[in-house]
Amino acid sequence: DSVFAAVVQAPEDPILGVTVAYNKDPSPVKVNLGVGAYRTEEGKPLVLNVVRRAEQLLVNDPSRVKEYLPITGLADFNKLSAKLIFGSDSPAIRENRVTTAQCLSGTGSLRVGAEFLAKHYHERTIYIPSPTWGNHTKVFALAGLSVKTYRYYDPGTRGLNFQGLLEDLASAPSGAIVLLHACAHNPTGVDPTLSQWEQIRQLMRSKGLLPFFDSAYQGFASGNLDADAQSVRMFVADGGECLAAQSYAKNMGLYGERVGALSIVCRSADVAVKVESQLKLVIRPMYSNPPIHGASIVATILKDSDMYNEWTIELKAMADRIISMRHQLFEALRAKGTPGDWSHIIKQIGMFTFTGLNKEQVAFMTKEYHIYMTSDGRISMAGLSSRTVPHLVDAIHAAVT
Ligand code: PMP
Repeated sequence: DSVFAAVVQAPEDPILGVTVAYNKDPSPVKVNLGVGAYRTEEGKPLVLNVVRRAEQLLVNDPSRVKEYLPITGLADFNKLSAKLIFGSDSPAIRENRVTTAQCLSGTGSLRVGAEFLAKHYHERTIYIPSPTWGNHTKVFALAGLSVKTYRYYDPGTRGLNFQGLLEDLASAPSGAIVLLHACAHNPTGVDPTLSQWEQIRQLMRSKGLLPFFDSAYQGFASGNLDADAQSVRMFVADGGECLAAQSYAKNMGLYGERVGALSIVCRSADVAVKVESQLKLVIRPMYSNPPIHGASIVATILKDSDMYNEWTIELKAMADRIISMRHQLFEALRAKGTPGDWSHIIKQIGMFTFTGLNKEQVAFMTKEYHIYMTSDGRISMAGLSSRTVPHLVDAIHAAVT
């Protein structure tokens, strides 16, 4: 008998499991709105042209070898990533108060940051929004932090529960860590306005709460890299400290290359040097050092103004297609006379729409219409196309009537 005979079957991941179920469905009309990855109007994955160009340059450069990177990754990549999120004129960067480590995409950056905080930060409680990306709870709990939630989404208005958010942060213990989605909150698509961000900032700074930004969608939400980083930059502009986890999965389409960065903004250059030395001790026993290919693609694009511009154009095209899907879906529901107020579809931001459909309605749509999405009613707008909108509208209409 196996020594592992007592191992019980684990459930599928609630998000990635949607694609597993989709792949098993033989129906020709099936639609996968569970996957958090961009698809073209033809439903195909997209490799950006500028990424192909950068890869060509890398392949044709004979000086490139496959040596190990340092523990914190590619130096150029780290510098350029910090500039991308904090702004090229950021005083924190100029004053050498930022330490950046290339990590395994957004998830790995969150995990390394969490492990560092669990070891070296005095308050081991992290507040995450309710709801949030399902992996947050596990990443932070497994790193040794105690995970609590703050109110975020109001199902009544399908918008932000701003009062609840402020109350919960106001009653958090001073020094607690607060996870903030930099933009395009997943799964709700609901972001604070700039003036709400300012109030959040003031409250957090007055209580000494430590911001940990998760930036998985910079540029992908509005189509503008600077606009999508505003929340983070407000918190850096006040001279205070924070962490930021960046992912290039969505905005450069580098999903499987696993490219991301963790930055820690410190009060002084002196502190930043010590923090970096401890980040190395976190990373070394975890995976020694990060992979070279994806980070080289990113660095190649970010340091060349021509490639950088091409990237911003391709990025905006992805963001625009998603925004256009929001309008098409909204208009089609209205044209069909589907009961309910669907204006949240065009108000929400980023890759996802939090439809408000409940678990039973989602199960019905999957069973009768072969439409796949997470059970909380979240649909990926990137998985939708002009061709599939009518089918989705039929399904939603049938589910709510
Ligand atoms: N944070 C959020 C909010 C996300 O939506 C995602 C991607 N689904 C991630 C982090 C991390 O993704 P990755 O590890 O692929 O960069």
